[in-house]
Amino acid sequence: MTAPRGWTPSASARGAVAVIDLDALRSNVARCRQAAPTSGVMAVVKADAYGHGLVACARAAREAGATWLGVALLEEAIALRDAGDAGPILAWLAVPGAPWAECLAHDIDVSVAELWALAEVCAAASVTGLRARVHLKADTGLSRNGATAAGWPALVASAREAETAGLLEVVGIWSHLAHADAPGHSTITHQIGVFDEAVEVARRAGLTPQVRHLANSAATLTLPNSHYELVRPGIAIYGLSPGPEVGTAADLGLRPVMSLRARLSSVKRVPGGTGVSYGHDHVTASETTLGLIPLGYADGLPRAASNVGPILAAGRTRTVAGRVCMDQVVIDLGDDPASAGDEVVVFGGGGPSADDWARVSGTIGYEIVTRIGPRVPRVFLGVTP
Ligand SMILES: *Cc1c(COP(=O)(O)O)cnc(C)c1O
Repeated sequence: MTAPRGWTPSASARGAVAVIDLDALRSNVARCRQAAPTSGVMAVVKADAYGHGLVACARAAREAGATWLGVALLEEAIALRDAGDAGPILAWLAVPGAPWAECLAHDIDVSVAELWALAEVCAAASVTGLRARVHLKADTGLSRNGATAAGWPALVASAREAETAGLLEVVGIWSHLAHADAPGHSTITHQIGVFDEAVEVARRAGLTPQVRHLANSAATLTLPNSHYELVRPGIAIYGLSPGPEVGTAADLGLRPVMSLRARLSSVKRVPGGTGVSYGHDHVTASETTLGLIPLGYADGLPRAASNVGPILAAGRTRTVAGRVCMDQVVIDLGDDPASAGDEVVVFGGGGPSADDWARVSGTIGYEIVTRIGPRVPRVFLGVTP
């Protein structure tokens, strides 16, 4: 058998691989740049680039013109620096005692939304003698991270004081939308108004941010008045739709980056009336062929996809037969010819999509790709030498 595209000896022996098409990722970055032609693109590569592989995806995103990278954890930003990335990186999620000094030493921009964080960043700047690069985050209505309108004036005043003292530079002001995946939702205009007001308050306090940023993927693709100097697409970079109301990936001109492939571990004939997998939630209707796939919920296949997850095998889309187990799922191949070792496509690359898996499992494509676990090797296509 000739090895299918993306299989390596180790992936072949494991029997499962996530093929990551970096050319598709570059094309998606280009699509975001086209949607926001006068803004810079911050490619969001948190959570191991949504499960796609942090370093390779970050590099491909830079090659395609992403001028910034965005991550949640400070540790993720440090990992990018350790891998040699030299461009602007913003990290936005920290708890008291976070490694601020290490971030400053690695020239990582940090988000500050509360006075404790400002104090810790200033302390790190004093200790290291380095000037921190800070993005102040306003809570404009998501009620997640960010200073509320009540806390904002004190935050910007303290930040301005620290800036004057030479401890930091306020590089950006930013916020995040609650309903960007519901184009036209009334909260969007409201949040933009609150954001503009927060920027005004900061300017009146003497701050001169170079970049304002608010737009995630959905807003990048559908909401030009949210673009400002920088947009922060994540899911679109990986070629998945931000949500059904925004459109399908194809409607949006996006190319799915991850394709999850596996090889059948067992193929066998069983009689009608055979119960399949734990609890026998599937029972064969007649004599049939069962195929066993070496992927389960430990690898990130949702258990909620029991009896509903779609898998392309032997030329047709099948449905997971019975419960998704920790390491394995079974499919019913009917009377179609198949052998152990044959390749099946769980999602991506000509098979069902991660968004299809999300729909049948009651979740979002984000969760499907992000949870594909470390037991599944990532194999990269389109790597530049
Ligand atoms: C994850 C995240 C993004 C990217 O969101 P997508 O919907 O994947 O485009 C942008 N900004 C913040 C603050 C995030 O946490």
